[in-house]
Amino acid sequence: MQIGFIGLGNMGAPMAANLAAAGHQVTGYDMAVPGADGIATAADAAEVADGADVVITMLPNGEILRAVADQIHPAMATGAVHLDCSTVDVESARAVAEQAMKYTLLAVDAPVSGGVGGAAAGTLTFMAGGQEAAFAKVEPLFAIMGQKAVHCGEAGAGQAAKICNNMILGVTMIATCEAFALADKLGLDRQKMFDVVSTSSGYSWSMNAYCPAPGIGPHSPADNDYQPGFAADLMLKDLRLSQHAAEVVDADTPLGQHATALYRQFVEDENGQGRDFSAMLPRFEKRGHR
Ligand code: NAD
Repeated sequence: MQIGFIGLGNMGAPMAANLAAAGHQVTGYDMAVPGADGIATAADAAEVADGADVVITMLPNGEILRAVADQIHPAMATGAVHLDCSTVDVESARAVAEQAMKYTLLAVDAPVSGGVGGAAAGTLTFMAGGQEAAFAKVEPLFAIMGQKAVHCGEAGAGQAAKICNNMILGVTMIATCEAFALADKLGLDRQKMFDVVSTSSGYSWSMNAYCPAPGIGPHSPADNDYQPGFAADLMLKDLRLSQHAAEVVDADTPLGQHATALYRQFVEDENGQGRDFSAMLPRFEKRGHR
């Protein structure tokens, strides 16, 4: 396929490189980054879109996505697919899909989970929204860039799945960290705490696969001084998107709201920026030690 790739940052560059390594013709554009391994580069976004079967965007937020969509949609050929893999608000995903239809294009919103490591290794998970035909057309690309793709429903369904998943993750990580901090104060050994919880009803991905306590459970960012991994600022972004969506549809998400407030405080007031999101544990440990 002839593929255009816009947004060659931490995630986009390795994803584009994997597509090129699999034999696709990839042309990329980024306003700040010069390029990625094995791909051609263009002078602007419209040039990338011209003649492409699929244009992939991997951008910071919904506002930028909408601006880039305005540049590429008029330049894309009828029936071409705009595949957006950024994490953005559901409304922007739906607006971009509607605009694509007006230009007789197909559109898929497919945010990812798996982080920079998953992007480099080609093991991302994609959660996709959009027409069946559009999903079918880009499925072979998901197979190169990732290990799993779930078609979640119509436009915006991929973003909805992503923010719901990450709202659960944010809340669960906080619960796991505060439980460790409580266990410490109760004199419970951390390894014993892990042995019990990881095989009892309190188990979760946060505890079992990404344990926030150093030296306990499988290797995780806690064992590397909380270098991300998944940065607390990215968790804050996703939690804010979940709360924005909850407001729009009037959903009751009190724990999501509280998790957002805690990660905001951690990132903006407590030097949490750039630390892994599991560094909530040392944050909770501080109480009583000041
Ligand atoms: P990044 O900031 O490294 O990359 C974004 C790139 O977009 C930058 O290189 C920037 O120069 C470029 N860009 C911005 N505006 C542009 C424009 N108008 N035209 C062309 N290029 C433009 O971010 P990232 O870590 O690669 O994340 C990209 C997306 O993936 C985000 O939506 C993020 O939430 C999501 N995501 C990131 C991770 C992660 O671990 N980094 C994990 C899952 C999802």
